[in-house]
Formats: sequence, C-alpha cells, structure tokens
Amino acid sequence: MASKPPFSRANTSGNSNCQWNGGIPCSPDRSRLAADVVVSAIDPRTLFGRLVAHPSTRQVLARMDRSPTALPPEVTHLGLAGEVPVLPVETVLHGDPLVVVRTNGTAPPGQAAWTILRRARRAGASAGDILDVLGSRGLDLRAHVVTRIDRSASQIVDETAGSPYGLAWSGTNTLYARAGTASPVEGLFCVGAAAHPGAGLPFVGLGAALAAQLIGPAERVRG
Ligand SMILES: Cc1cc2nc3c(=O)[nH]c(=O)nc-3n(C[C@H](O)[C@H](O)[C@H](O)COP(=O)(O)OP(=O)(O)OC[C@H]3O[C@@H](n4cnc5c(N)ncnc54)[C@H](O)[C@@H]3O)c2cc1C
Repeated sequence: MASKPPFSRANTSGNSNCQWNGGIPCSPDRSRLAADVVVSAIDPRTLFGRLVAHPSTRQVLARMDRSPTALPPEVTHLGLAGEVPVLPVETVLHGDPLVVVRTNGTAPPGQAAWTILRRARRAGASAGDILDVLGSRGLDLRAHVVTRIDRSASQIVDETAGSPYGLAWSGTNTLYARAGTASPVEGLFCVGAAAHPGAGLPFVGLGAALAAQLIGPAERVRG
C-alpha cells in the first residue's frame, strides 16, 4: 500500500537567512514553486553555492572543493561517406591519448555517423588533429569526412554547467567528497555525477534509485 512520504514541506528549520523557503527559483521569471520534495540533478556545487544558501551545506561544499573535477574526454562527431571501414559499435585504441571510436550514430543511407572520444594521460598527448591521431593508429578516415563537430572537455563542462564525470577519483576520500543523496536541507536530495555514488550512467541511475527509496512512494490520489 502506498504510504505518505515523511515530508510536509521542504524547509530549512528556522534559518532566517535561508533562500530556500520551501521552493526553488524557477526559470524564466525566477518565481518560486512550493514543493514537498526537490531532487536536484545539477552539480551540487552550483546548487549549494548559488541556489540554496543554508549554513549546513557549507560542509558539503568544503568537502567537494577539496576534490578536483574530472574532465570528460574531448569529443569529435564525424559524418562519413564512401567505403568506411567496418568496425564494431565500440573500439578502444590504447595508448596516449586513449581513443574510443563509436560507430553507432544515425546517418542517412550510405553514410555513417561516428563519435570519437579522446583522453590524454599526460600533458601534450592531446596535441594534433584527431583524424591524424586515428591515421597514425591505422584508422585513416580523412578521405571520408563530410562533416565534423569538435567539442573540447571544457566546452562539454560549460554546456552542462558541470562535469558529466563528476569528481576526479583521488582515493577513498572521494567517496566522502561527493554530495550525499539526502542533503542537509530537509526534503532536498542530490543525484547526478557529482553526488553519491558517482558518475557514469549506471551510477547516476543508482543515485536516482536511492533518492526514490529515501523519498518513498507517492501518496495515492483517490479519484
Ligand atoms: C562524451 C561522453 C561520453 C560518455 N560515455 C559514457 C558511457 O559510455 N557510459 C557511461 O556510463 N557514461 C558515459 N558518460 C558519462 C555520463 O554521460 C554521465 O556520467 C551522466 O550523464 C551524468 O549524468 P548527470 O545527470 O549527472 O549529468 P548530465 O547528463 O550532464 O545532466 C545534467 C543536466 O542538468 C542541466 N543543468 C545544469 N545546471 C542547471 C541549472 N542550474 N538549471 C537547470 N538545469 C541545469 C544540464 O544542462 C544537463 O542537461 C559519458 C559522458 C560524456 C560527456
């Protein structure tokens, strides 16, 4: 049987300086919506640094600030035509930079859409055009490229206002640096790459499941 969630209103327990007020600023006019529960899927540093001012979130911010951000790989999307090599959905080309080739993009008939991820381990390993890097690894696509889009790591972080890879692993302390699912603000939960249990689709999904478990089932509405 559905039970009522243990929240009456997201609140800040008598903190007069708080900007939370049981609601969140909502675009585009920044008006506020009352809410029993809020699940935030944005970078907790943005949430607690800019959107929710609450003294007890300072510790969360301080812990996160000690951990560096994990940058995503550089990404190149390629539109290819002609006799393109046949590769499986994902091919990993080991070395520095590490290159991952994904071939399962959607393209018009007779063409192909590939995504190339490049991650350098040492400074300078990312120098040079990715098509040249691929050529030097035996995968020469230069004659097949009809269109391409390049996205640097910092562009991707800017686009999603936070790294989709969350916090860089720096030993077991990273486990405690990520924002917990239940935040110090009652009724406010954190999910996503920089929250527990971490980045990557399986972990982000697990974090969402944890939040759902903590919140509990919705009250059944009788018709
Ligand atoms: C190129 C690339 C390849 C990847 N490949 C894999 C893979 O093969 N397998 C895997 O498991 N993981 C992969 N990942 C990682 C995975 O995509 C991320 O870990 C996961 O998507 C993070 O989920 P998220 O919800 O935290 O963040 P996101 O998916 O980035 O979603 C956050 C959303 O919040 C929005 N947002 C941010 N700030 C605000 C704000 N203030 N107000 C409103 N909205 C806001 C952003 O616009 C964005 O839409 C890959 C990531 C990249 C970049």
